[in-house]
Amino acid sequence: MAPIPGSGLAKGLAVTLRTMTKKSHTAQYPDAQPDLPPRTRGVIGLFEENCTVCMLCARECPDWCIYIDSHKETIPAAAPGGRERSRNVLDRFAIDFALCMYCGICIEVCPFDALFWSPEFEYAETDIHELTHERDKLREWMWTVPEPPALDPGAEEPKEIAAARKAAEKLAATQAAEAAEADRDRAPGADRAAGSGTPPAAPGTGEPQPPTEGGTA
Ligand code: SF4
Ligand code: SF4
Repeated sequence: MAPIPGSGLAKGLAVTLRTMTKKSHTAQYPDAQPDLPPRTRGVIGLFEENCTVCMLCARECPDWCIYIDSHKETIPAAAPGGRERSRNVLDRFAIDFALCMYCGICIEVCPFDALFWSPEFEYAETDIHELTHERDKLREWMWTVPEPPALDPGAEEPKEIAAARKAAEKLAATQAAEAAEADRDRAPGADRAAGSGTPPAAPGTGEPQPPTEGGTA
C-alpha cells in the first residue's frame, strides 16, 4: 500500500512531542556532580604499607603502565647467632593513567591488598605527563576509597578484624585495670590500708599522729 503523503512527517513530529514532555536525563556536569556507584573505576589508590614490592601488578598489567623501583635492605638477626634477613624497600611506584585501560587486573592480582579503586575521576590534565601519578599522589587517592560493603549477617568475622578486635579488647582491659589500681592508690586512707606505716597528720598541726594503743588509730 502506498504511504499517505506527509505520514512520515507526522510520525517524526509525534516522536518530538513525546520526548519534549519527558523529563531529561542529561546531567549538567560540572555544575551538577554525577551520582556514581561507590565501586566506580575512577582512579587507583595505593596503600603503600601493604605493598611488598612483589611486582605482580606490574608484570600482569596488559598496558605495562605500572612503574616500580625498589632496593634490598638487610635486616640484622633478631637474636645472636640468628640469620640476617633482607626485605624490599619501595623507591618508586607510579601508574601512567594515560595508558591505563582501567581493566582492574592489577587490583585483582595484588596478593597484599595494596591497590584499590576510587570513584574519583576529576584528574584531567592539559599535559599528558601529569597523568603519571607517583606514589604520593596514589596514596592521596586512598583517602577517597569507599568503605567495603558490610558483611552478610552471620558471616564469619575476617581473621584480620578478629585479631585487631582481640588486641583492642586486651589493651582496653589492661588500661581499665591500671586505672582501677591508680584510683585505689588515690583513695583516702589508702596508704594505711596498704600498710605503708605513715600515720595521717594530726588535725591543725601538720605533724603525724602518734599511734594509739593497739596500733589501729
Ligand atoms: S587497571 Fe589494568 S591497565 Fe590500568 S594499571 Fe591496572 S592492570 Fe594496568
Ligand atoms: S602486586 Fe601489590 S604488593 Fe605486589 S608490587 Fe603490586 S601493589 Fe605491591
